[in-house]
Amino acid sequence: MTSSLDADLLQRLEVLEAAGLRRVRRPMDSPTGREVVVAGRRLIQFASNDYLGLATHPAVVEAAAQAARDFGAGSGASRLLGGSLRLHHVLEEALADWKGTGAALTFSSGYAAALGVIPALVSAQDVIMLDRRVHACCVDAARMSGAALRVFRHNDPDHLDSLLRWARRRPGTHRILIVTESVFSMDGDRAPLEALVRLKEQHGAWLMLDEAHAAGLLGDRRSGLSEACGVSGNVEIHFGTLGKALGAAGGYVCGSRTLVDHLVNRARSLIFSTAPVPAAAGAAREALRVVQSTGGRERCETLWNRQRDLIERCPGLSSSSAIVPVPAGDERLATSWSENLLAEGLAVPAIRYPTVGRRQARLRVSLTASHQPSDIHRLATALNLLRSPV
Ligand SMILES: *Cc1c(COP(=O)(O)O)cnc(C)c1O
Repeated sequence: MTSSLDADLLQRLEVLEAAGLRRVRRPMDSPTGREVVVAGRRLIQFASNDYLGLATHPAVVEAAAQAARDFGAGSGASRLLGGSLRLHHVLEEALADWKGTGAALTFSSGYAAALGVIPALVSAQDVIMLDRRVHACCVDAARMSGAALRVFRHNDPDHLDSLLRWARRRPGTHRILIVTESVFSMDGDRAPLEALVRLKEQHGAWLMLDEAHAAGLLGDRRSGLSEACGVSGNVEIHFGTLGKALGAAGGYVCGSRTLVDHLVNRARSLIFSTAPVPAAAGAAREALRVVQSTGGRERCETLWNRQRDLIERCPGLSSSSAIVPVPAGDERLATSWSENLLAEGLAVPAIRYPTVGRRQARLRVSLTASHQPSDIHRLATALNLLRSPV
Protein backbone atom coordinates (compact mmCIF):
# COMPACT_ATOMS: atom_id res chain seq x y z
CA MET A 1 0.00 0.00 0.00
CA THR A 2 1.31 3.45 -0.87
CA SER A 3 0.83 5.92 1.95
CA SER A 4 -0.28 9.43 1.13
CA LEU A 5 3.17 10.64 2.15
CA ASP A 6 4.87 8.28 -0.30
CA ALA A 7 2.38 9.12 -3.07
CA ASP A 8 3.16 12.80 -2.57
CA LEU A 9 6.91 12.24 -2.53
CA LEU A 10 6.88 9.93 -5.56
CA GLN A 11 5.27 12.69 -7.55
CA ARG A 12 7.97 15.14 -6.52
CA LEU A 13 10.72 12.64 -7.37
CA GLU A 14 9.24 12.22 -10.85
CA VAL A 15 9.45 15.97 -11.39
CA LEU A 16 13.15 15.86 -10.48
CA GLU A 17 13.73 12.87 -12.74
CA ALA A 18 12.13 14.60 -15.72
CA ALA A 19 14.30 17.68 -15.20
CA GLY A 20 17.54 15.68 -14.95
CA LEU A 21 17.85 16.71 -11.32
CA ARG A 22 17.27 13.47 -9.46
CA ARG A 23 20.16 12.51 -7.19
CA VAL A 24 21.23 9.04 -6.10
CA ARG A 25 23.86 7.54 -3.82
CA ARG A 26 26.23 4.87 -5.09
CA PRO A 27 27.57 2.58 -2.35
CA MET A 28 31.37 2.49 -2.49
CA ASP A 29 33.21 -0.63 -1.33
CA SER A 30 36.62 0.97 -0.85
CA PRO A 31 38.10 3.91 0.97
CA THR A 32 38.02 7.24 -0.84
CA GLY A 33 41.06 7.77 -3.05
CA ARG A 34 42.39 7.76 -6.57
CA GLU A 35 40.86 4.37 -7.31
CA VAL A 36 37.54 3.33 -5.81
CA VAL A 37 35.28 0.28 -6.14
CA VAL A 38 31.62 0.88 -7.00
CA ALA A 39 29.23 -1.96 -7.85
CA GLY A 40 32.18 -4.30 -8.32
CA ARG A 41 33.90 -1.95 -10.80
CA ARG A 42 37.20 -0.17 -10.29
CA LEU A 43 36.92 3.52 -11.13
CA ILE A 44 39.40 6.36 -11.20
CA GLN A 45 37.73 8.94 -9.00
CA PHE A 46 37.67 12.68 -9.61
CA ALA A 47 35.00 13.40 -7.03
CA SER A 48 36.79 13.54 -3.71
CA ASN A 49 37.76 16.61 -1.68
CA ASP A 50 40.47 14.54 0.00
CA TYR A 51 42.91 16.70 -1.99
CA LEU A 52 46.10 15.46 -0.35
CA GLY A 53 45.12 11.83 0.10
CA LEU A 54 45.25 12.20 3.88
CA ALA A 55 42.03 10.23 4.51
CA THR A 56 44.11 7.08 3.88
CA HIS A 57 47.53 8.35 5.04
CA PRO A 58 48.89 5.62 7.38
CA ALA A 59 49.80 8.03 10.20
CA VAL A 60 46.40 9.78 10.02
CA VAL A 61 44.51 6.47 10.03
CA GLU A 62 46.63 5.24 12.95
CA ALA A 63 45.96 8.48 14.88
CA ALA A 64 42.21 7.93 14.39
CA ALA A 65 42.51 4.36 15.69
CA GLN A 66 44.68 5.44 18.62
CA ALA A 67 42.19 8.19 19.56
CA ALA A 68 39.37 5.64 19.56
CA ARG A 69 41.40 3.30 21.79
CA ASP A 70 42.37 6.12 24.17
CA PHE A 71 39.08 8.03 24.30
CA GLY A 72 36.42 5.60 23.05
CA ALA A 73 34.15 5.46 20.00
CA GLY A 74 32.00 8.40 21.05
CA SER A 75 32.50 11.56 23.11
CA GLY A 76 29.46 10.91 25.28
CA ALA A 77 27.98 14.39 25.59
CA SER A 78 28.06 17.97 24.41
CA ARG A 79 31.28 19.94 24.83
CA LEU A 80 29.63 21.87 27.67
CA LEU A 81 28.56 18.77 29.60
CA GLY A 82 30.84 15.74 29.73
CA GLY A 83 32.14 15.70 26.14
CA SER A 84 35.02 18.17 26.12
CA LEU A 85 37.80 15.60 25.84
CA ARG A 86 41.43 16.74 26.18
CA LEU A 87 41.87 15.61 22.55
CA HIS A 88 39.42 18.28 21.32
CA HIS A 89 41.38 20.95 23.17
CA VAL A 90 44.70 19.69 21.80
CA LEU A 91 43.26 19.84 18.28
CA GLU A 92 41.94 23.36 18.85
CA GLU A 93 45.34 24.55 20.05
CA ALA A 94 46.94 23.05 16.95
CA LEU A 95 44.36 24.77 14.71
CA ALA A 96 44.92 28.17 16.36
CA ASP A 97 48.65 27.70 16.00
CA TRP A 98 48.33 26.78 12.32
CA LYS A 99 46.11 29.76 11.50
CA GLY A 100 48.04 32.14 13.75
CA THR A 101 44.98 33.11 15.80
CA GLY A 102 44.41 33.35 19.55
CA ALA A 103 42.02 30.41 19.72
CA ALA A 104 39.93 27.89 17.79
CA LEU A 105 36.73 25.94 18.26
CA THR A 106 35.70 22.68 16.55
CA PHE A 107 32.25 21.43 15.59
CA SER A 108 30.98 18.10 14.29
CA SER A 109 30.92 19.42 10.70
CA GLY A 110 31.59 22.57 8.73
CA TYR A 111 27.87 22.83 8.11
CA ALA A 112 27.16 22.70 11.84
CA ALA A 113 29.89 25.27 12.50
CA ALA A 114 28.29 27.76 10.08
CA LEU A 115 24.85 27.25 11.65
CA GLY A 116 26.36 27.86 15.07
CA VAL A 117 28.61 30.79 14.28
CA ILE A 118 26.66 33.19 12.07
CA PRO A 119 23.50 33.42 14.22
CA ALA A 120 25.73 33.82 17.30
CA LEU A 121 27.30 36.94 15.79
CA VAL A 122 24.47 38.86 14.09
CA SER A 123 20.72 39.22 14.44
CA ALA A 124 17.75 41.39 13.47
CA GLN A 125 19.39 44.85 13.64
CA ASP A 126 22.38 43.67 11.63
CA VAL A 127 23.26 43.10 7.98
CA ILE A 128 25.00 40.13 6.32
CA MET A 129 26.69 40.53 2.93
CA LEU A 130 27.06 37.23 1.07
CA ASP A 131 28.93 36.55 -2.15
CA ARG A 132 26.35 35.10 -4.55
CA ARG A 133 28.22 31.79 -4.71
CA VAL A 134 28.87 31.02 -1.05
CA HIS A 135 28.15 27.50 0.16
CA ALA A 136 24.63 26.51 1.22
CA CYS A 137 25.66 26.26 4.90
CA CYS A 138 26.46 29.98 5.03
CA VAL A 139 23.24 30.88 3.20
CA ASP A 140 21.16 28.77 5.60
CA ALA A 141 22.98 30.16 8.64
CA ALA A 142 22.54 33.73 7.41
CA ARG A 143 18.79 33.15 6.99
CA MET A 144 18.55 31.61 10.47
CA SER A 145 20.25 34.62 12.03
CA GLY A 146 17.37 36.98 11.23
CA ALA A 147 19.79 39.67 9.98
CA ALA A 148 19.01 41.56 6.76
CA LEU A 149 20.67 39.75 3.83
CA ARG A 150 22.31 41.36 0.85
CA VAL A 151 23.94 39.30 -1.90
CA PHE A 152 26.84 40.83 -3.81
CA ARG A 153 27.81 39.81 -7.33
CA HIS A 154 30.37 37.02 -7.35
CA ASN A 155 33.87 38.33 -6.53
CA ASP A 156 32.77 41.92 -7.22
CA PRO A 157 34.24 44.36 -4.63
CA ASP A 158 32.59 47.36 -6.33
CA HIS A 159 29.16 45.88 -5.85
CA LEU A 160 30.02 45.01 -2.25
CA ASP A 161 31.22 48.57 -1.73
CA SER A 162 27.89 50.00 -2.89
CA LEU A 163 25.97 47.61 -0.60
CA LEU A 164 28.20 48.54 2.33
CA ARG A 165 27.49 52.24 1.68
CA TRP A 166 23.77 51.47 1.60
CA ALA A 167 24.03 49.55 4.91
CA ARG A 168 25.91 52.36 6.63
CA ARG A 169 23.33 54.94 5.45
CA ARG A 170 20.42 52.76 6.55
CA PRO A 171 19.05 53.96 9.91
CA GLY A 172 19.56 51.44 12.67
CA THR A 173 22.24 49.22 11.05
CA HIS A 174 24.31 47.94 13.89
CA ARG A 175 26.79 45.28 12.81
CA ILE A 176 27.82 44.22 9.32
CA LEU A 177 29.20 40.74 8.59
CA ILE A 178 30.71 39.90 5.20
CA VAL A 179 30.78 36.18 4.35
CA THR A 180 32.72 34.75 1.43
CA GLU A 181 34.81 31.78 0.38
CA SER A 182 38.50 32.07 -0.41
CA VAL A 183 38.44 29.36 -3.08
CA PHE A 184 34.93 28.71 -4.39
CA SER A 185 33.66 25.17 -4.13
CA MET A 186 32.00 24.78 -7.53
CA ASP A 187 34.11 27.12 -9.72
CA GLY A 188 37.55 26.77 -8.16
CA ASP A 189 38.22 30.51 -8.53
CA ARG A 190 39.63 32.78 -5.80
CA ALA A 191 38.18 35.74 -3.93
CA PRO A 192 39.93 39.14 -4.25
CA LEU A 193 40.92 39.09 -0.58
CA GLU A 194 43.02 42.28 -0.46
CA ALA A 195 40.13 44.33 -1.87
CA LEU A 196 37.60 42.70 0.48
CA VAL A 197 39.80 43.39 3.49
CA ARG A 198 40.24 47.04 2.47
CA LEU A 199 36.46 47.44 2.15
CA LYS A 200 35.54 45.79 5.41
CA GLU A 201 38.06 47.99 7.22
CA GLN A 202 36.82 51.12 5.52
CA HIS A 203 33.20 50.39 6.46
CA GLY A 204 33.77 48.88 9.89
CA ALA A 205 32.46 45.44 8.87
CA TRP A 206 33.65 41.99 9.97
CA LEU A 207 34.90 39.30 7.58
CA MET A 208 34.10 35.59 7.86
CA LEU A 209 36.21 33.61 5.38
CA ASP A 210 35.30 30.04 4.42
CA GLU A 211 38.58 28.32 3.47
CA ALA A 212 37.05 24.86 2.91
CA HIS A 213 38.82 24.46 -0.45
CA ALA A 214 42.03 26.37 0.32
CA ALA A 215 43.07 25.21 3.78
CA GLY A 216 45.74 22.53 3.49
CA LEU A 217 46.69 23.73 0.00
CA LEU A 218 47.72 27.41 -0.08
CA GLY A 219 50.32 29.45 1.80
CA ASP A 220 53.71 28.51 3.29
CA ARG A 221 52.04 26.62 6.13
CA ARG A 222 49.22 25.58 3.79
CA SER A 223 46.73 27.30 6.13
CA GLY A 224 44.80 28.92 3.27
CA LEU A 225 44.47 31.80 0.83
CA SER A 226 44.45 34.44 3.58
CA GLU A 227 47.92 33.27 4.59
CA ALA A 228 49.08 33.21 0.95
CA CYS A 229 47.82 36.81 0.47
CA GLY A 230 49.26 38.02 3.78
CA VAL A 231 45.89 39.10 5.18
CA SER A 232 45.34 36.40 7.85
CA GLY A 233 45.57 38.99 10.62
CA ASN A 234 42.77 41.05 9.02
CA VAL A 235 40.20 38.26 8.98
CA GLU A 236 38.07 38.15 12.14
CA ILE A 237 36.51 34.74 11.57
CA HIS A 238 38.52 31.99 9.87
CA PHE A 239 36.18 29.17 9.00
CA GLY A 240 36.67 25.74 7.47
CA THR A 241 36.26 22.00 7.50
CA LEU A 242 38.44 19.14 8.70
CA GLY A 243 36.77 16.88 6.13
CA LYS A 244 38.45 17.97 2.88
CA ALA A 245 42.23 18.45 2.51
CA LEU A 246 42.65 17.36 6.15
CA GLY A 247 41.05 14.01 5.37
CA ALA A 248 39.09 13.71 8.65
CA ALA A 249 35.71 15.22 9.65
CA GLY A 250 34.47 18.25 11.54
CA GLY A 251 34.26 22.02 11.22
CA TYR A 252 36.30 24.76 12.85
CA VAL A 253 36.43 28.44 13.56
CA CYS A 254 39.70 30.24 14.33
CA GLY A 255 39.85 33.76 15.72
CA SER A 256 40.37 35.64 18.93
CA ARG A 257 40.03 34.06 22.37
CA THR A 258 37.09 36.42 22.94
CA LEU A 259 35.36 35.17 19.77
CA VAL A 260 35.72 31.58 20.95
CA ASP A 261 34.53 32.40 24.49
CA HIS A 262 31.46 34.04 22.98
CA LEU A 263 30.73 31.07 20.68
CA VAL A 264 31.03 28.62 23.57
CA ASN A 265 28.15 30.54 25.13
CA ARG A 266 26.06 31.24 22.06
CA ALA A 267 26.70 28.75 19.20
CA ARG A 268 23.66 26.47 19.43
CA SER A 269 25.08 23.72 17.19
CA LEU A 270 27.95 23.41 19.68
CA ILE A 271 25.89 23.65 22.85
CA PHE A 272 23.07 21.30 21.86
CA SER A 273 25.02 18.62 20.01
CA THR A 274 27.26 15.74 21.05
CA ALA A 275 30.96 16.53 20.73
CA PRO A 276 32.75 15.17 17.62
CA VAL A 277 33.99 11.57 17.82
CA PRO A 278 37.52 11.09 19.21
CA ALA A 279 38.70 9.33 16.02
CA ALA A 280 37.89 12.40 13.91
CA ALA A 281 39.71 14.73 16.29
CA GLY A 282 42.74 12.44 16.47
CA ALA A 283 42.89 12.12 12.69
CA ALA A 284 42.59 15.88 12.18
CA ARG A 285 45.33 16.56 14.72
CA GLU A 286 47.73 14.26 12.86
CA ALA A 287 46.64 15.60 9.45
CA LEU A 288 47.57 19.13 10.60
CA ARG A 289 51.05 17.84 11.37
CA VAL A 290 51.37 16.19 7.96
CA VAL A 291 50.07 19.26 6.11
CA GLN A 292 52.72 21.46 7.69
CA SER A 293 55.56 18.97 7.07
CA THR A 294 57.81 18.57 4.04
CA GLY A 295 55.60 15.64 3.04
CA GLY A 296 52.61 18.01 3.01
CA ARG A 297 54.48 20.46 0.80
CA GLU A 298 55.39 17.66 -1.62
CA ARG A 299 51.80 16.45 -1.82
CA CYS A 300 50.69 20.00 -2.68
CA GLU A 301 53.33 20.27 -5.40
CA THR A 302 52.17 16.99 -6.94
CA LEU A 303 48.58 18.25 -6.88
CA TRP A 304 49.49 21.51 -8.68
CA ASN A 305 51.47 19.54 -11.28
CA ARG A 306 48.43 17.36 -12.00
CA GLN A 307 46.21 20.45 -12.23
CA ARG A 308 48.54 22.20 -14.70
CA ASP A 309 48.77 19.04 -16.79
CA LEU A 310 44.96 18.75 -17.09
CA ILE A 311 44.48 22.44 -17.93
CA GLU A 312 47.19 22.30 -20.59
CA ARG A 313 45.62 19.26 -22.21
CA CYS A 314 42.06 20.64 -22.22
CA PRO A 315 41.68 23.89 -24.18
CA GLY A 316 39.07 26.18 -22.65
CA LEU A 317 39.28 24.86 -19.11
CA SER A 318 40.76 26.97 -16.33
CA SER A 319 41.17 26.91 -12.58
CA SER A 320 43.31 28.33 -9.81
CA SER A 321 42.66 25.48 -7.39
CA ALA A 322 42.21 21.72 -7.22
CA ILE A 323 38.69 22.08 -8.62
CA VAL A 324 38.34 22.20 -12.40
CA PRO A 325 34.81 22.95 -13.64
CA VAL A 326 33.80 21.68 -17.08
CA PRO A 327 30.84 23.86 -18.09
CA ALA A 328 27.89 22.09 -19.73
CA GLY A 329 24.98 24.46 -19.05
CA ASP A 330 22.15 22.01 -19.65
CA GLU A 331 21.45 19.66 -16.75
CA ARG A 332 20.82 16.63 -18.93
CA LEU A 333 23.99 17.25 -20.94
CA ALA A 334 26.07 17.36 -17.75
CA THR A 335 24.42 14.16 -16.55
CA SER A 336 25.04 12.37 -19.84
CA TRP A 337 28.71 13.45 -19.84
CA SER A 338 29.07 12.07 -16.35
CA GLU A 339 27.45 8.77 -17.41
CA ASN A 340 29.71 8.53 -20.46
CA LEU A 341 32.80 8.99 -18.33
CA LEU A 342 31.54 6.42 -15.84
CA ALA A 343 31.21 3.89 -18.66
CA GLU A 344 34.92 4.47 -19.31
CA GLY A 345 35.82 3.93 -15.68
CA LEU A 346 36.11 7.61 -14.72
CA ALA A 347 33.96 8.91 -11.86
CA VAL A 348 33.33 12.63 -12.40
CA PRO A 349 30.19 14.07 -10.81
CA ALA A 350 27.68 16.29 -12.63
CA ILE A 351 26.84 19.32 -10.51
CA ARG A 352 23.35 20.66 -11.03
CA TYR A 353 20.74 22.97 -9.57
CA PRO A 354 20.35 23.76 -6.70
CA THR A 355 24.10 23.32 -5.99
CA VAL A 356 24.69 25.73 -8.89
CA GLY A 357 22.21 27.96 -10.72
CA ARG A 358 19.72 26.57 -13.25
CA ARG A 359 21.31 25.99 -16.70
CA GLN A 360 24.77 26.27 -15.12
CA ALA A 361 25.30 22.55 -14.79
CA ARG A 362 28.84 21.32 -15.11
CA LEU A 363 31.19 18.46 -14.42
CA ARG A 364 33.27 19.14 -11.36
CA VAL A 365 36.70 17.57 -11.62
CA SER A 366 38.36 17.30 -8.27
CA LEU A 367 42.09 16.61 -8.47
CA THR A 368 44.20 15.11 -5.72
CA ALA A 369 47.85 14.46 -4.99
CA SER A 370 47.09 10.74 -5.36
CA HIS A 371 46.26 10.96 -9.07
CA GLN A 372 48.83 9.54 -11.47
CA PRO A 373 49.86 11.31 -14.68
CA SER A 374 48.17 8.49 -16.65
CA ASP A 375 44.84 9.25 -14.86
CA ILE A 376 45.07 12.85 -16.02
CA HIS A 377 45.84 11.81 -19.59
CA ARG A 378 42.85 9.44 -19.69
CA LEU A 379 40.54 12.08 -18.29
CA ALA A 380 41.79 14.79 -20.67
CA THR A 381 41.30 12.55 -23.71
CA ALA A 382 37.78 11.60 -22.62
CA LEU A 383 36.79 15.19 -21.82
CA ASN A 384 38.10 16.54 -25.12
CA LEU A 385 36.13 13.91 -27.00
CA LEU A 386 32.90 14.73 -25.15
CA ARG A 387 33.27 18.47 -25.56
CA SER A 388 34.26 18.49 -29.23
CA PRO A 389 31.40 19.41 -31.60
CA VAL A 390 30.27 16.37 -33.59
C1 LIG B 1 32.09 21.24 2.35
C2 LIG B 1 31.91 22.68 2.62
C3 LIG B 1 31.43 23.15 3.85
C4 LIG B 1 30.88 22.22 4.91
O1 LIG B 1 31.84 21.44 5.50
P1 LIG B 1 31.45 19.98 6.05
O2 LIG B 1 32.50 19.70 7.07
O3 LIG B 1 31.49 19.07 4.87
O4 LIG B 1 30.08 20.08 6.65
C5 LIG B 1 31.41 24.50 4.04
N1 LIG B 1 31.79 25.37 3.09
C6 LIG B 1 32.24 24.96 1.90
C7 LIG B 1 32.66 25.96 0.89
C8 LIG B 1 32.30 23.61 1.61
O5 LIG B 1 32.71 23.21 0.42
